[in-house]
Amino acid sequence: MFKQCVVALCSTLMAGFLVSCDSGQPQATANIVMAAKAGKEEKKEAGSFPVPLEKLAVPEAEIIMSRPQVPILCYHQVRDYRPADSKSARDYIVPVAAFREQMKALSDSGYTTILPEQLYRYLVAGEPLPQKPVIISFDDGCDEQFPITAEILDPLNFKAAFFIMTVSVNRPNFMTGGQIRELAEKGHSIGLHTWDHHNVKKYAGDDWVTQVEKPKLQLEKITGRPIQFFAYPFGLWNEAAVPELKSRGMIAAFQLSTPRDQSSPLHTIRRIIVTGDWSGPQLIKRMSSSFDGGK
Ligand SMILES: [Zn+2]
Repeated sequence: MFKQCVVALCSTLMAGFLVSCDSGQPQATANIVMAAKAGKEEKKEAGSFPVPLEKLAVPEAEIIMSRPQVPILCYHQVRDYRPADSKSARDYIVPVAAFREQMKALSDSGYTTILPEQLYRYLVAGEPLPQKPVIISFDDGCDEQFPITAEILDPLNFKAAFFIMTVSVNRPNFMTGGQIRELAEKGHSIGLHTWDHHNVKKYAGDDWVTQVEKPKLQLEKITGRPIQFFAYPFGLWNEAAVPELKSRGMIAAFQLSTPRDQSSPLHTIRRIIVTGDWSGPQLIKRMSSSFDGGK
């Protein structure tokens, strides 16, 4: 999520270049309002448009926790290693050939990509998902994510979720606003990854405005769509963050692989970081071992 991109970000900051991702996803076309209360789901006719996500009644946490987890993959940089890449930096870099093999393995094994919007409808309202669903997510907004999507994901008809830190938009090594908008228009999901990647656990006072409110508006302006999903920098979260995110329109948030919070499962959704040394079959095995069964 961070190393290389943030290294690049820090370099640009030091050079004095200080500037300061709901998408057009194929939402379920359900024409029902599902109000889930105490495990019972009411269905009401509500016209032909999907109910906006924020209007869906959120059931008790226990119900959300009881639904089988969907495997969610987290990528940062997808590019070939460079001699200057440290060993730890390589944990966040997946070489192009490895990424291609991993995606092909998912496709060959019958996986269908879904987006956070579909996951939310499933977790909150029990809406059905395709068989073998998976979410492919990218953090930080590194520039190669744009061509990699076109070259590798598009031919497989895979969609992805991009969590953007807005401080880096339009900077060297990061995606431009135009590229982010194009991803959204092509049916990918854009979410927020804060303004400048500071640890959410350390926020106080106006930090929430700087790190969530303003960048949310910026991404909404770029994409022309509501931004309702959040990814924690470094995957780090605490209980105090949940009401702050909720009050700012973030209906769900993604961490990394620690257990979900039993009282706030929508704001502690799990992901696994995929590394470049996983073959396709190894990736599928890891997905199964991490996400099968409740945690
Ligand atoms: Zn990150």
